Amino acid sequence: MPDRADRAAAPPADAREVLADFAESKALRRLYPHPAADRLDPYVLRELLAAADAHGEVGPVLSLCVHLATAVPLLAEGARTEITAEHLEAALRGERLLALAATDEGTGSDLAALATTVAPGPRGLVLDGRKRWATSATTADAALVLARRKPGRHFTSFSWILVPLDAPGVTVRPADTELFRGSGVGHIELDHVELSDGHLIGRHGAGMVTFAKHLAVERLASAAWAIELCRRTIADTDRRLRGRAVDGGELRELSAVRQRLARCAVRVSALDALWRQTCDRIAADRDGTWAAVLKSASGDTVGQVLADCARLQGADGFGRGGAQSLRAEAAVFGIGGGTTEVTLDIVAERLDSVLNGLDGPDRPDRPDGPDRPDGLNGPGS
Ligand SMILES: Cc1cc2nc3c(=O)[nH]c(=O)nc-3n(C[C@H](O)[C@H](O)[C@H](O)COP(=O)(O)OP(=O)(O)OC[C@H]3O[C@@H](n4cnc5c(N)ncnc54)[C@H](O)[C@@H]3O)c2cc1C
Repeated sequence: MPDRADRAAAPPADAREVLADFAESKALRRLYPHPAADRLDPYVLRELLAAADAHGEVGPVLSLCVHLATAVPLLAEGARTEITAEHLEAALRGERLLALAATDEGTGSDLAALATTVAPGPRGLVLDGRKRWATSATTADAALVLARRKPGRHFTSFSWILVPLDAPGVTVRPADTELFRGSGVGHIELDHVELSDGHLIGRHGAGMVTFAKHLAVERLASAAWAIELCRRTIADTDRRLRGRAVDGGELRELSAVRQRLARCAVRVSALDALWRQTCDRIAADRDGTWAAVLKSASGDTVGQVLADCARLQGADGFGRGGAQSLRAEAAVFGIGGGTTEVTLDIVAERLDSVLNGLDGPDRPDRPDGPDRPDGLNGPGS
């Protein structure tokens, strides 16, 4: 496979093509094993994101991450009308790409302050507002839009609406950035967009609760992808360093250099262990506390690992599509899906529950039998 720098000159991989491949190989059925498709298998999710990441581009994986982990399950949970059900079925056949637009212009992390509105109108619903930095805005068929149905910050003030991106009154502009090729990231303007009631996803007023549940799974997906991206970048850096000579030996064998690589491997191993420990409860129970722990850890891990690897690649890291630009793109792990500061605030609020979760190791498959020779039996033995 050509490396990232070689690919920089080529057109980016296409999320739609990858999605069609997943559908063709029945991988989407394995991902959503239940008929309702509102929950997913975390290990299949990780396998698919790793396969997408192997193409070596951040943009399309970002697009797939939002579509697979959040948009499809969220639509599935609220697909109660012919229109929403038809979009869901097409998405499950791998024929339709969905965006998810929560972030409003001017309010950002403060979701409860969002100003995009949904009001009753002649056809059923009318939407007005400006969403910014929505992944797949320029490439998706439709966006799930979080909108305000009444004033105030109360969690019942918001609803999800399915907005076809070619509907009259919708304008989409690509984000002005050289990063995230193939992600379709952009801004969506909704100017008196009239839609029928059949575009409502779930119940009116349930928007924020539904989002919290599915955002937990997006955080799980983002951490799974973070592990793969770090693993691939560390391996690439290791390979490059083995080809560099210093003082008659390999640069890779200098103690300071290999310890740095080892520290990267330790960090990503710790993230991997946390992911495996929490994935079932996040995917099945949508556990927001552990999703926040995982997201905080992955944002920090990606930042540290990518910074170290880019540094170790020296001047080559600054080449087009090199490790330094990957590092800039990977900073999105600390921003998209909630900034690290926001997820740390959640962890701080629920500190007791996090600490109680660390209260002594479980030994789920401890065999009956003689005492362990190392004297490490658990309490009470
Ligand atoms: C590539 C990319 C793709 C994206 N895709 C999507 C998408 O598909 N759908 C979507 O809805 N949104 C998407 N976003 C938007 C993303 O979710 C927001 O950027 C994010 O929520 C942060 O909002 P903001 O950019 O307005 O930052 P702000 O809210 O303006 O925050 C700026 C900075 O202030 C600090 N900060 C903010 N809040 C706090 C706090 N409570 N405590 C301490 N410090 C704080 C943080 O350092 C933060 O980075 C995407 C963004 C990017 C860059």
